[in-house]
Order: sequence, then C-alpha cells, then structure tokens
Amino acid sequence: MSSESLFARAQQLIPGGVNSPVRAFRSVGGAPFFVQSAQGATLTTADGQELIDFVCTWGPAIHGHNNPVIRDAIADALNRGTSFGTPNPYEVEMAELITRFVPSIKKVRMCNSGTEATMSAIRLARGFTQRDKIIKFAGCYHGHSDSLLIKAGSGALTHGHPDSAGVPASFAQETIVLPFNDTAALTEAFAANPGQIAGVILEPYPANVGLIKPEPGYLNFLRELTAREGTVLIFDEVMTGFRLAKGGVQELEGITPDLTTLGKIIGGGLPVGAFGGRADIMDKLAPVGPVYQAGTLSGNPLAMAAGIAALKLLEETGTYERLAALGQQVQAAVSSALQAKGLPAQVPQVGSMFCTYFTETPVRDLASAQTTDTELFARYFRGCLEQGVYLPPSAYEGCFISTAHEGAAIDRACEIMTRVIQSL
Ligand SMILES: *Cc1c(COP(=O)(O)O)cnc(C)c1O
Repeated sequence: MSSESLFARAQQLIPGGVNSPVRAFRSVGGAPFFVQSAQGATLTTADGQELIDFVCTWGPAIHGHNNPVIRDAIADALNRGTSFGTPNPYEVEMAELITRFVPSIKKVRMCNSGTEATMSAIRLARGFTQRDKIIKFAGCYHGHSDSLLIKAGSGALTHGHPDSAGVPASFAQETIVLPFNDTAALTEAFAANPGQIAGVILEPYPANVGLIKPEPGYLNFLRELTAREGTVLIFDEVMTGFRLAKGGVQELEGITPDLTTLGKIIGGGLPVGAFGGRADIMDKLAPVGPVYQAGTLSGNPLAMAAGIAALKLLEETGTYERLAALGQQVQAAVSSALQAKGLPAQVPQVGSMFCTYFTETPVRDLASAQTTDTELFARYFRGCLEQGVYLPPSAYEGCFISTAHEGAAIDRACEIMTRVIQSL
C-alpha cells in the first residue's frame, strides 16, 4: 500500500488524514509519507524510500529508532503484563532516576504526554499559590490545553486571545502572553497584576519556533523576579530535558525552577510525561493535597520500562559530547553552504538540536523568528526530502539528531543538505 493510497483512505476517516496537524505537510506543500519501519537514523516509507531522519519522532528517539536496548526492556516488561492499574516497581525506579538527573525535582508524578504534564503543572501552580493568572511567552509551545493555547496579540498584558477556536475567552483572560527575552515586559506584567500571577511557564530555550537562546541574564532575572513575587517558575523541558544535558537547560544555565515538565525522551518512544519539583508544591497534589490529577495508564509498566532504558543509556560516558559533535558537524556544513550560496540565514544549534532561519534579522523572539522566508524553507525541505533527508515539515520546528546518526548517516545528510542549498 503506497503512501498516496494510505493518505487517501486516512483523509476519509481522520481529520486531515493525520492524528497531529503538522504531519499533514500543509506548510511545506505536498502529501505526507507514511512510515513502515524505522531503524537507527533511518525511516523506511511505505513507498520503500529510505530517509535520514532529523525529526526523531519529534525528539524522543535520541538513541536512534528501534534501539535494541529499549526494545529488550519493553519485551521484558511485556512478558509480565501490559497494565496493572496499581503501583508497580518501575514507577519507583523512574522517580529515582528523574530526581537524580534533575536535582530541582524532589518529587515527581508521571503522566502520559507533555500536554498533560504542563496542564497539570499549571493547575498545581494555581492551587499552590491560590492565584489564577499565568504568564507564557509568544512562540513557546506547551501542548494543547486551554490555558496554554494562547499567543501574543495587542493588549496581551491585560487580555489574552485564544489561538485556537474552542478556547473560551474567559479562560484566555487568565493567560498573559509576553515576548521572550524582554525583561521590561515581565516587570510591567507583574506590576499590572499585583499578587495575581500563579506561575510563569517557559521553554528555557524556545524550540517550538526554531531554536532561540535566552539573552545573558534573562533567565536569572526571571528566577529572581518570580521568587520575589511568590510566583511558581515552571521550566517546560518536555523537549530539552535529557536532550541537551541529563539535567536539561536548567543544568546548562545553572537555574533552579520550582517545577519542571518532562516528556518525549522520558518515554523511550512510548507515551510518557512527567512533572515535578519542590516537595512543598508537589505535596499539594491528591491524595496528599487538594489539587486533583490522575491517569488510568499513568506509570504504565511498558512505558516506564522503555523510559528507564532510554534514561540509563544517557548515562554512558560521552553521550552528550558525541551528540554535540554531530550537531556541530551539521551546523558547520549547513551554514557554510548557505554562506557560499550567499543566502542570508542563521543556523542556531545547541548540542543535538538545530534549525535554519532564512532571515538576516537576528532571531530572539517570535516576531523576529517570523521574518524567516517560509517559502524558501519549503523548497529546501522538499529538496532534502527528494534526496533522502527528512527535516521537520515546518519552518518553525527544530531538528533533532540521535547517536545513531554518527558516521555514514550524518556525513551523507551533510552532503545532501549542501547540494540542496546549492540548488536553491
Ligand atoms: C512537545 C512539547 C509539548 C507537548 O508534548 P505532547 O507529548 O506532544 O503533548 C509540551 N511542551 C514542549 C516544550 C514540547 O516540545
């Protein structure tokens, strides 16, 4: 069955033919491919094409697809049963691993997705502070819960605007959206809402709008301001957690948030999320505290086994150095090809994450990121896809590298990307 006929069938029965919108390729044109199997750095499509994959299932596959260690861990757990609905030993081991990797997390609760993690962390921040308002930043993505599907608009300081139909305006009003990297906007928002801000949530390196680094001192400013205001600081490390360092961006930047949300890598390719942090805040959760949060499949043994195996693999010496070397190799290849071609562009990269902005404007927030030439990106994307490299099908998504890209795959990908840039 070809991708074309599968997509035709899917479109009859699934909205847009996909179970997550970006997969439909709407912003890059063309029809999506279906994947039959994946191994290491490579996807094999239903049409038999092999693609070097820089999406890595949107982050989780840091050890490459179908990693044998993770597969064995799942198989072992599978022999014992798929779900118990009771506590199981894997959950304890997972909690021990998370709290060891991320020292700001003293207590942790497992859930089934990044969306659940951020949604629950927001409720917890509100329950803990007994305040209603939250601050998020334009361009940061925190999953699709009502409080967080809001982006900036004029007057965002006082009135949020829903980004999605179906989010009541009354909910959106509780979410204040600010530009990233703007300390004055933060100061103003706190001054305009005294004693009302329950939490500030951010991707400490915003990576759902490409890849943006905080300016020096910005995260420190935010930490000090929120501590002074009694506001819960939430680092959403669903993407960056375990990817850039065992302890995420908070380890790299030396900042201690009050709560952290996790997902993606933590499930080893199965659906897992987690949120955790200060014990006094986490103990507000049911059954010890008044903030309700629950999940039929939370802490699922198969998912925990996969996640535990993925996290333990990260402890092998040199993992992050290897990943960073791969990131630097791609960064150097792509940026020198762009320069040779005379195209104004930026290729931000941290460790095993990178993206390409086709713009001269230095990117420091959503507005500057939106100066990227999306039409040019679409041509770049399609050129790479034709020649066997799969980039995320959107100008605003970051690329991910796995340890399985080391060697032939990364060399070949760099060659292909260079050739495609020459032809743009
Ligand atoms: C992917 C992502 C989420 C949402 O996670 P899902 O598992 O897709 O619900 C939340 N926050 C960040 C930073 C993410 O990258």
